[in-house]
Amino acid sequence: STQAKTLFPYTTLFRSLHELTAIRAMERMRADFVANASHELLTPLAAVKGFIETLDDPAAGEDPATRSRFLGIMAKETDRMQALVRDLMSLSRIEAEKYDPPQTPVDFAQIVMETVDQLRNSQKDRGADIAVDITADLPAVIGDAGQLRQLANNILNNAMKYGKDGTPVLVSLVSSRSGAMLNFAVADEGDGIAPEHLPRLTERFYRVDSGRSRLVGGTGLGLSLVKHIVDRHRGHLEIRSTVGKGTTVSILLPVSPA
Ligand code: ADP
Repeated sequence: STQAKTLFPYTTLFRSLHELTAIRAMERMRADFVANASHELLTPLAAVKGFIETLDDPAAGEDPATRSRFLGIMAKETDRMQALVRDLMSLSRIEAEKYDPPQTPVDFAQIVMETVDQLRNSQKDRGADIAVDITADLPAVIGDAGQLRQLANNILNNAMKYGKDGTPVLVSLVSSRSGAMLNFAVADEGDGIAPEHLPRLTERFYRVDSGRSRLVGGTGLGLSLVKHIVDRHRGHLEIRSTVGKGTTVSILLPVSPA
């Protein structure tokens, strides 16, 4: 009909305007990300530079107590920069592989157990709070072992960091009801997260409390890395939290066909 013919150009115009807006939004996000990453690196770098100058001054540099305190801070700041650069590199690698899903069967239960053992060994006190519930003989998931290790490590570390010392961190890995997925869940009894923050937690550099994140050595990239890894594995991520009670992160991962 003639009506359809006259409408057609408008719909194409709307579509291209819509696409243009989407492209602009992506460019903006990219620019913001570079600005944020640079700022995150500049802050510790400025601190290190300041301490070098102070130590260069004989008044401070020759006092052993001041010297060792400043060197300690410099070591912490460089650790922070190293963690940030590592996470940035992982993020760019994972983004590059976004459309290239993993192919190999991976024993995720073993990865979770190894991560738990590592944390129990490296953080004696808080490590003792970890309780594990893993079903025996779970099927493999189709995955990337390195990325799944990173995922388990980030989620468990967050529960240890943002949970309360002396309260349990419950790690569970079970089959979903249909058996098509594995359900990995980590629950802590920390301060929890207010509902308005929940949808934004996987944004790069989004933190509920930046002071606290910095204090515990966070980069602000952990959950964004986890979200990318879950998406690449065609999985599902859910974060549930109650302020004053604690947080549970659940991840579903498709199992490998037998
Ligand atoms: P970070 O390096 O800051 O820990 P993440 O991306 O891992 O960054 O997490 C983003 C933010 O989400 C954290 O800064 C913290 O505010 C919040 N968060 C993550 N996990 C938890 C948790 N288990 N309990 C409370 N808050 C959490």
